Amino acid sequence: DTAFSAFLSDENATIELGHRLAHALQPGMVVFLEGDLGAGKTTLTRGILRGFNFTGRVKSPTYTLVEPYTLLGLEANSKLYFYHFDLYRFNDPSEWEDAGFRDYFNSESICLIEWADKASGQLPSPDWIIQLQPESTGRRILLSATSELGQTCQNALTL
Ligand code: ADP
Ligand code: MG
Repeated sequence: DTAFSAFLSDENATIELGHRLAHALQPGMVVFLEGDLGAGKTTLTRGILRGFNFTGRVKSPTYTLVEPYTLLGLEANSKLYFYHFDLYRFNDPSEWEDAGFRDYFNSESICLIEWADKASGQLPSPDWIIQLQPESTGRRILLSATSELGQTCQNALTL
């Protein structure tokens, strides 16, 4: 698979790219967001949510592990469930089942996960892996598709 790459010169560029990603994402997708603390993972998530016309506050779910959003889908009156995970503090696999997180992964929802490696045994395989890394005073984003659906959506992104 050919990766998508772009330079993001400032925070606003990260938000704008998030808008583009929102238009390429489809219900049922699982996205891993990789990069060190401060790389811009939560900023990109905020951009994606803005792309779905969510205007409220986007907080980092560091202590709650997940922040749920109910968004409007593309079809009339349809709803889209969006879950933003931050698993940095996740360390108890039994908590995954107890909290019912498994059910969050379904065909009507989009799941974005920061620090997926902390729960690798619990998670389904991703459709996209997005990496963010520092480059000069900005960031570099690398997106690779890791499923057929992911590839189709990545093609929509690069059109
Ligand atoms: P993470 O979730 O990866 O820990 P955050 O998104 O919380 O990172 O924070 C990233 C920081 O980097 C924020 O202060 C944000 O303003 C900044 N930032 C985001 N994108 C860029 C960019 N393209 N260039 C420079 N700074 C950025
Ligand atoms: Mg974060």
